[in-house]
Amino acid sequence: MASIQDKIVLITGASSGIGAACAKAFAQGKAKLILVARRLERLEELANELKHTTQVHCLSLDVCDRFSVESALKSLPESWTNVDILINNAGLSRGLDKLYEANIQDWEEMIDTNIKGLLYMTRFLVPGMVHRERGHIINIGSIAGHQTYPGGNVYCATKAAVRALSEGLKMDLLATPVRVTSVDPGMVETEFSQVRFHGDIERAKKVYQGITPLTAEDIADIVFFCASRPPHVNISELVVLTTDQS
Ligand code: NDP
Repeated sequence: MASIQDKIVLITGASSGIGAACAKAFAQGKAKLILVARRLERLEELANELKHTTQVHCLSLDVCDRFSVESALKSLPESWTNVDILINNAGLSRGLDKLYEANIQDWEEMIDTNIKGLLYMTRFLVPGMVHRERGHIINIGSIAGHQTYPGGNVYCATKAAVRALSEGLKMDLLATPVRVTSVDPGMVETEFSQVRFHGDIERAKKVYQGITPLTAEDIADIVFFCASRPPHVNISELVVLTTDQS
């Protein structure tokens, strides 16, 4: 295992679910954390919890807004600018409707967050990694990028795009030591389903009935494992399912 102590790790979507669990896992490894999301109060709550273990910097930004991304990253204090590990985790699904009946605003939100958000973060942070000749981008994709399910249409398309972007970036970085990993989870119990159903908690709970879903910590363990391999080892893609999923 390679140490991640003192590495600067930027996690998008750190205010909840998988992103928050990654923050806790990387804090245990003594990495320095930049926590990113829109809900600053949630980030600060988590930062308070982790500050006894490691150094934490909170950054409130909307990954869909390239100007917000650019100005927030430019505002980072000097000692936080050399990001070693970027975890592109912010993402969401909206609705579970037939393509020809769905809410167009829902599509835009998924495309803007899951694809454009990941692209903006990557575009702003990877040049520094190439320049410093070290770095790791870990994209949180989904089983939805491999299998389309009924009503999943646009969400599945965005996660198929994440897969293609991970592959493309890997090719672009081939002659450099910068690594790219795609971690593609199956069903994980987080706030994801509540967001999908616009806060309908009862409908969200039904998604997990009769199965044992993955936990956010299960995925954070895997992400940490990928990040802590020796520098010449690149775990390219990992699909992580619950035993109830095929
Ligand atoms: P959560 O809803 O618990 O967390 C989503 C995170 O993304 C929140 O921290 C939210 O923060 C952040 N986020 C959403 N939109 C934006 C935005 N525009 N700008 C900045 N941050 C944003 O869901 P999960 O933890 O489950 O999801 C994390 C990732 O895992 C997503 O990419 C999801 O697609 C993927 N995934 C999830 C699965 C599951 O079953 N849960 C399965 C497979 C993949 P805030 O609202 O504060 O901005």
